[in-house]
This record gives sequence, C-alpha cells and structure tokens, in this order.
Amino acid sequence: MLSVSDAIAAVLNATSPLVPESLPLAETLGLVLAEDIHSNTDLPPFDKSLVDGFAIRLSSFQSELPVLEIVSAGQVPTRQLDQLACIQIMTGAQLPIGADAVVPIEHTSQRSDANGKMVVTFSSNVATWRSGTNIIRRGAALKCGELVVISGSELRPQELGALAELGHANVLTRRRPRVAALATGDELVPIDQTPGPGQIRNSNELMLCAQIRRAGADPIPLGIARDERVHLRERIEAGLQADVLVLSGGVSMGEKDLVPSELAAAGVRQVFHKVNVKPGKPAWFGVLDKSPTANSQVSRTLVFGLPGNPVSSMVCFELFVRPALRHLMGYAAAEPTPIKARLTQAHTTKGDRPTYHPAHIEWHPNGPTVTAVPWVGSSDLRATVAANSMALFPAGDQTYETSSIVDVIAW
Ligand code: AMP
Ligand code: MG
Repeated sequence: MLSVSDAIAAVLNATSPLVPESLPLAETLGLVLAEDIHSNTDLPPFDKSLVDGFAIRLSSFQSELPVLEIVSAGQVPTRQLDQLACIQIMTGAQLPIGADAVVPIEHTSQRSDANGKMVVTFSSNVATWRSGTNIIRRGAALKCGELVVISGSELRPQELGALAELGHANVLTRRRPRVAALATGDELVPIDQTPGPGQIRNSNELMLCAQIRRAGADPIPLGIARDERVHLRERIEAGLQADVLVLSGGVSMGEKDLVPSELAAAGVRQVFHKVNVKPGKPAWFGVLDKSPTANSQVSRTLVFGLPGNPVSSMVCFELFVRPALRHLMGYAAAEPTPIKARLTQAHTTKGDRPTYHPAHIEWHPNGPTVTAVPWVGSSDLRATVAANSMALFPAGDQTYETSSIVDVIAW
C-alpha cells in the first residue's frame, strides 16, 4: 500500500501552481507573492524629525534661540537654519535645510520676547550632541531600487504594509483556489435537522469547508449527495467545475461506496486509492484534465475522496488536501512540516499502519512536549477538540516511554 509520503508526493506531482494574476492588495492576506517587488522610492522619502521639538544647527547653537517658524507633519519648511535661530518641528515633519539635530520639547522651555516672538531656552547640554540626533535621513530604511519582498513570500500583515507604503494597490499573486466540498451518504441529514433512526448529521461538510478556508482557499459547499448513481454523478459534475473537489464518504468497499466508480465515469483519472495510514486508509485521489476555455485557464481539477468517518476526513485533509492547496497557491514548502516533541506520558501502539493520533502539543522553554489525547477511533471527533495536532506513531505494536521523541504535525 502507498505510504503517506509517497501519496503526498503523488498529489504534489499532479498539481501545478495557479497562473499568477493581479489582485487588489487588500484581498491578498495569506496569498503568495508571484513577483519581486523593488522599492520605487527612498524611505523615508525626506530627512525627518523623530520627535516633537526644535530643529537646530549644532555649529551655531546657543542656549537661547528665536523660533523662525513651526513645521507640522505634512508641511514643508519654508525657512532654512542659516542664522542664530531654531525651527519648531513635529514628529514626522520634513527637516529644514541647515538643521542637523532636533531637541525634544521636554528639554526646552518657551517664552515670548518683547515683540511677541517665541524664544526657546534649552535645558540640556545640547552643544555636546552629535549631528543627526533625533533625525532619520532620507533613504535610511530603504533605498530606491532595493528588493523589498521576494517572489514566493507569503503576504502577511507586514508585507501588506510594506507594499502599501510603496503604493502597490495591486500585486501579482495566485488567487485562492476554489474548492468544492461534497458529502455523500444516505444516512446524512443537514446539521439543523434531528437525525431519525439510523441517521447522523452531516458534520463533515462544515468541517471541510472550515479547513479549506483556513488553508487560504475558497470553499464551495455542495451539500449532501445520496448514495445513488444519478444523483451522485450530477453533484460530482457540479463539483468538477471547481479547481479542487473534495468528497467525504463513499470510497470504501461497501456496496453503496459509489464514489470511485462515479468519478471514473465522469472522466476523473485515479492516481491512488488506499494509503497506508490510520485513520484514512480508503483515501482516494485523482485528476480531471479539461481543455482550457476562452474565459478559464483552469485545465485540471484535483479530486480527493476522503473517508467519511470524521477524524479520517480531517486527518486526510491535513495530509493530502492542504499540501495540494498550498502548492496551487504557490507556496514553496507545501508538505506538512513535522516538529519533534517529547511525550509527556508513555503511549502504546497496536496495529499494522502508521497512526496519526490526535495530540496536544505544548511549548516549553526546553522544547515542545506532546500528549496523545484519549481517542477511541476515526469517528471520535470529540478527541480532536482536545487536540491541537496529530502525533505520528509508526506501524507496529510498541510502547513509547515518557520523554520519547515523536513527530507532530500542528493543526
Ligand atoms: P463512508 O466512508 O461513506 O463509509 O462513511 C463512514 C462513516 O462515516 C459513516 O458510517 C458515517 O458514520 C460517517 N460519515 C460519513 N459521512 C459523514 C459526514 N458527512 N458527516 C459525518 N459523518 C459522516
Ligand atoms: Mg457512505
């Protein structure tokens, strides 16, 4: 049976990043930049004051000076410091020509002279100050032409701020993948209904849509498909319009597990069915190649058939679907990245498959620790509520003692 790492490799191998397009900067949080951005200006764009105070010229400093004018942020000085005088200046305002230091207002006192003009008395030993005190020079933070954000970077709040500062109202990026989520199963009822005998609520669809959104993609909820060929096929055809179709349920060996055969009938080519993993063994993955149309560049829909048990669905999304979404979005590192953590309690495994066990990771000064939470199996969604990660235990019957190091993937 295919290993998890081979399955992830097969998914990434079948996936290409979406075509870059220009998007409004305000819509790009969490997307990946698809161009290098160089600065088109010096920052700051002019010499400016870092404090509210008085701009002086150190070479012609006296402990008492008349004030030539007041310059607020957003104003441009009209006077130069070419005489025995100072200029009152606010934080962020452009420095007057001739000034080489700013004395904070807290180090001064002001009075009016006989003509009603402001005169400043400096309380500190300003004469000993170095040139440039309380000033930031033009281009000190960034020079015109310097690389600011490199292609492939995730657009976090600080990248958005830096690009906004440079006036990039639109940037080249890759849009959020559109991901259809379709639950299958005759036993399912919508979450606002009371299940009858033998029925359960369709919790997977909502959970999958939340995982899709958290991965940075746009979910398209398609509701519940009955375990009946005509209805299932019709819902599958709707889902195949998206970049990615994620189905829940119907991929096992039961008589009503019609998803693989109906996907095949819809032209979806199977890449794998069954992965050596617990939970999630029946996981199915395939692709549909479509000829591009005039208004669509999408040429391939990725299709994931996830097992219906809720924890299987959740784990398989994290292992296989999220990497595909990250790759579509242009992330260089698309695979899950495990971290090493110390077990807080001994843990015994049984079984022939590597197990991703709901776990709780904690951060400590001497490294992360992890606790496998009580879990009764793939239908036990409550265990995942107590968890913030999954710990990987290799196949085999074994006891891992307290403080053993295990791989953990954060959720
Ligand atoms: P299946 O993979 O279709 O054989 O489903 C396995 C089990 O998962 C079912 O018996 C249900 O108990 C559960 N299940 C299937 N689909 C859902 C769903 N959408 N929401 C919650 N549980 C589900
Ligand atoms: Mg089913």
